[in-house]
Amino acid sequence: MSQHPLPENLHVDTLAVRAAVDRSQYGENSEAMYLTSGYVQPDAETAARRFAGEEEGYTYSRLGNPTVTSFEMRLAAMEGAEACVATSTGMSAILLMCLGLLKSGDHVICSHSLFGSTIKLIGSEFAKFGVQTSYVSQTNVAEWKAAMQPNTRLLFAETPTNPLTDVCDIQALATIAHAGNALLVVDNCFATPILQRPLEMGADLVVHSGTKYLDGQGRVMAGALCGSKALIEDVFGSVMRSAGMTLSPFNAWVVLKGLETLSIRMHAQSQQALALAHWLEAQPQVSRVFYPGLKSHPQHELAMKQQSGLGGAVLSFEVKANSPEQGRENAFKVMNAMRTVSLSTNLGDVKTLVAHPASTSHGRLSEAQRQVAGIQQALIRVAVGLEHLDDLKADFMRGFQAL
Ligand SMILES: *Cc1c(COP(=O)(O)O)cnc(C)c1O
Repeated sequence: MSQHPLPENLHVDTLAVRAAVDRSQYGENSEAMYLTSGYVQPDAETAARRFAGEEEGYTYSRLGNPTVTSFEMRLAAMEGAEACVATSTGMSAILLMCLGLLKSGDHVICSHSLFGSTIKLIGSEFAKFGVQTSYVSQTNVAEWKAAMQPNTRLLFAETPTNPLTDVCDIQALATIAHAGNALLVVDNCFATPILQRPLEMGADLVVHSGTKYLDGQGRVMAGALCGSKALIEDVFGSVMRSAGMTLSPFNAWVVLKGLETLSIRMHAQSQQALALAHWLEAQPQVSRVFYPGLKSHPQHELAMKQQSGLGGAVLSFEVKANSPEQGRENAFKVMNAMRTVSLSTNLGDVKTLVAHPASTSHGRLSEAQRQVAGIQQALIRVAVGLEHLDDLKADFMRGFQAL
């Protein structure tokens, strides 16, 4: 904890560098890293009280670690949440969410375009335990409403989506969820709390993959859930104690330091993505660009209102082609000819990454499922980083010249 309490009503940029600074007796200005699995107890009575939950204090790092606590408190402050629980990966945060909230007979509504592993986890793994899932179109509020059932427990949304950057109306979905006594969960991985704070728009829980923009330099895996104290401490805390999808203190420290530059990175990478999107739209080899910052994006106005006027750092585009086979061939030619950017399915890095969704992240879907999701063979996703814009354009030109 910081030695002096922070003033009230600080901006998210300030919270990113100042919230939950934990200093040891040495007063270090860069947060200490507590690499320990266990903690020495002052006496047996204290140990008993700590294990009984009657007194604060660390006992064992599966149950809590000061570096992990700092990351949790800082992210909670940035999301405007009462509390946060950190997990080993983004998927383990979603697993924890499911274990804490779902029981046999419950119903979940998800968008078709959710992250693939999320669909697999909720739709297939939890189906084994009697959880039923309905899939709806990301942007059609009426479909979400029509899918509500008396046993609907959760509405799970992700906005903008991967890779087509579809944006859904968080406020509208929260109203639908609450009218049916259900909870709205938002995966805020792409926008981060710098662009959008779903809890302020009525969502009940925010899910993060810390692996992406929170770390921001492609170094570690991490995840988190942010929400009310009642949900985070009472519901998820007790599952965590037994299930142990704990974030390592080393990874917590890396992501904690990543948060300090999140605002400047999200602004710079969003601006760079917008400039690149405009440029791509003007290239004769490109048939279509998907980016919320473009006027041509179907939810442009909603995105600008909901995301602090920024489009985020991920865009996708289709290379011109006469058939799906040629689309795949052309997309491969473009990516293979590029020399500056990396071919990688990750995102959230300061290094620009390109990927071919139809053969990687969405490769396990049938062609028919891909058509429903709108993932064409000619589609290339770009997670825009911090290289000079001219060098990025030159690299894409190199790709287009290979056609
Ligand atoms: C990467 C990602 C996840 C999963 O996070 P991991 O840290 O890889 O487990 C979940 N949701 C979205 C939107 C993602 O991009």
